[in-house]
Amino acid sequence: MAVIQTKCSCGQPVEVRTGEDSNDSFRTDGKQAVYPGETGYNIFRCRECRQPLHESCPDFCFEHTSAVGTRSRLVMTVRRPKSTALGTEPWVMLEDENASGIAVAMFGPDNPASRADASRMMQLWNADIVDKAAHHS
Ligand SMILES: [Zn+2]
Repeated sequence: MAVIQTKCSCGQPVEVRTGEDSNDSFRTDGKQAVYPGETGYNIFRCRECRQPLHESCPDFCFEHTSAVGTRSRLVMTVRRPKSTALGTEPWVMLEDENASGIAVAMFGPDNPASRADASRMMQLWNADIVDKAAHHS
């Protein structure tokens, strides 16, 4: 349970939230990263240096000790964000495959980089679920 003011390796300030301070998080370890003063999304790739933030910011690395139980697999969708603050262009998102319409991660306006990011995160997420299932059997 913490709000950590930290930085990407390039110097871009980011805010990492954990536990109950995190909202809208899609990671099994519950971490959420936003730019200070912003909210409502989870940073995947730094907007300054374009590095995946879980690699460029130690505070945002994946914690594999989480006891969070199995969650649904994610599917990639491209549609307009519900929040008009994000504009009217279609965005690339990952959604719970069992609860269509609930975006759990947003990767930015539709373009090849956003799709690549979403695809990579989807694989990490879904592989994590397979891992947990394997450990339970
Ligand atoms: Zn950066």
